[in-house]
Amino acid sequence: KAKENGRNQVAYFSSELDNELKEKMRIERKLKKAIAADQLEVYVQPQYDLKRGCFNWGEALVRWIDEEDGFIPPIKFITIAEETDLINQIGRAVIDKVCCLISEHGDTLAAIGINGIAINLSARQFFSSDLLDDIQSALGKYAISAKQLEFELTESLVMEDTGKAIKIMQALRDLGCRLSIDDFGTGYSSLAYLKRFPIDCVKIDRSFIMGVPNDKNDVEISSAIIAMAHKLGLETIAEGVETQEHMDFLKQQKCEYIQGYFMSRPLPIKDLLALPQSQK
Ligand code: C2E
Ligand code: MG
Ligand code: MG
Ligand code: MG
Repeated sequence: KAKENGRNQVAYFSSELDNELKEKMRIERKLKKAIAADQLEVYVQPQYDLKRGCFNWGEALVRWIDEEDGFIPPIKFITIAEETDLINQIGRAVIDKVCCLISEHGDTLAAIGINGIAINLSARQFFSSDLLDDIQSALGKYAISAKQLEFELTESLVMEDTGKAIKIMQALRDLGCRLSIDDFGTGYSSLAYLKRFPIDCVKIDRSFIMGVPNDKNDVEISSAIIAMAHKLGLETIAEGVETQEHMDFLKQQKCEYIQGYFMSRPLPIKDLLALPQSQK
């Protein structure tokens, strides 16, 4: 009897895996088509300068709205794309779209307060030998300054091969781009490691912001990250700011920038460009 059960379980698991694999392959096939047809879009979520009380920058977030499946979250298709060269194609398209936006609408963005855009990089894209060429040719194609671009790298990415990562980071810095560490606090690196990396800014992960100001641990962790980053000469930005309480806490901790639904959702470009312009 036990034997029978065992067999059934194997059959059960393998059909589960089979379905998962089929679903993955289905998404991958559709994704290839969507990329080829240029159907991926870039949304921008504004970031807010707490000291000056206005927007100062934005983060590009890729969006895929499929005819049949509707909105497919990046977490789902980015993970699949990262297993193949598709992530490099997506990444290149995002860089191109961001540079195009800055080139065509830089004046409007500046009037809104947005002086540059941050782009997320996956490990496979960051370590690819094409990355620097891709960035430089996009900068040239749209005649924009590297100072208007920031790249967000995750802790796990830089820890994968720190020696190589530092060299690439230095090259991006030499171009004039800003660098930040995304989702800080969720990976295996530590604040002590930060000083080895040529970065400008630390992005405190949303999971810590969610608990402030009530959860004692989250308060301790986020204020320690901010204080230590400042001691190392780095700026800080908090992601996932959803309430006035989050904002007040971060202002009190002297966090430089915030990003989250409380300030603005990620916006399609036409909505981004329709944000109020400052009177100055
Ligand atoms: P991330 O870089 O940490 O981006 C922040 C995520 O938090 C975004 O999710 C954003 O929509 C969401 N978010 C912003 N404010 C709030 C808030 O107040 N509350 C909550 N609950 N969420 C908020 P999204 O757009 O689904 O992206 C998820 C992840 O996918 C990103 O996390 C990033 O790792 C990846 N991703 C997105 N676009 C790209 C891209 O162009 N290239 C690469 N390589 N990865 C990307
Ligand atoms: Mg990010
Ligand atoms: Mg993040
Ligand atoms: Mg995050």
